[in-house]
Amino acid sequence: MKRTLLLVLALQLATLTSLWAQPKVIAHRGYWRAEGSTQNSVSSLTRAAELGAYGAEFDVWYTVDNQLILFHDSKFNGTEVEQLNAADMVGTPLPNGEPLPTLDEYLTEALRHPNIRIILEYKTHHNSKERQWEGAEAIVRKVAEYGLQERTDYIAFSLEACRGLVHHAPDAKVYYLNGDLSPRKLKNESFAGADYYKLILLDVNKGFTKKAHRLGLEVNVWTVNKEEELLKAAELGLDYVTTDYPELAIELYKGVEN
Ligand code: MG
Repeated sequence: MKRTLLLVLALQLATLTSLWAQPKVIAHRGYWRAEGSTQNSVSSLTRAAELGAYGAEFDVWYTVDNQLILFHDSKFNGTEVEQLNAADMVGTPLPNGEPLPTLDEYLTEALRHPNIRIILEYKTHHNSKERQWEGAEAIVRKVAEYGLQERTDYIAFSLEACRGLVHHAPDAKVYYLNGDLSPRKLKNESFAGADYYKLILLDVNKGFTKKAHRLGLEVNVWTVNKEEELLKAAELGLDYVTTDYPELAIELYKGVEN
């Protein structure tokens, strides 16, 4: 049934190929739904690469002892992550038993998969603007240590995080997540574009992508999980979709030409 529906949708899509662009597919928190994997793990990157996703997104915190680790939530066992030392978290078993990784471990794995793009979300640190900028500098330095500047993009909700990343990595693409800046304002901040919540798919926001494109910006949308939303993203000409279902998105977009 599911397969049939997919086929029907793919055929519908094929008829519109000349009109639509093909959004690039980014696996949200990696391809964590793959068997045996989990979010923000080294294996979620491995599996996203094996799937052929354009990119793997993941979340990075800067700990109180100036280390970079992968984790999503702002609290770990009830304590703010930004108040913890890396050793309090690193190595802790994730839901699949895999150890919670450092950014070093994740980037080491990235080197084994040269075709996937690294979409690094730098989390919002509330202690100070200075601290947020320090973390940005540490991230940029770490990515350069691995020689991964060319295939790393940055995303962040915090305006200061984005500004810090642009300052320390002026050649990198930095996308703003928080949804409250117009294309013109994104451009003025020297960001590469928007990475906004799926509200952008609503018709009321239809003009956003066109305006952004006119300014030379790119548009990504999260988290696009349903087939109809994935198709809408293609119809609107979005550059990227960030999804928990990268296998579905890749399959759907096979019928869409670039
Ligand atoms: Mg994230």
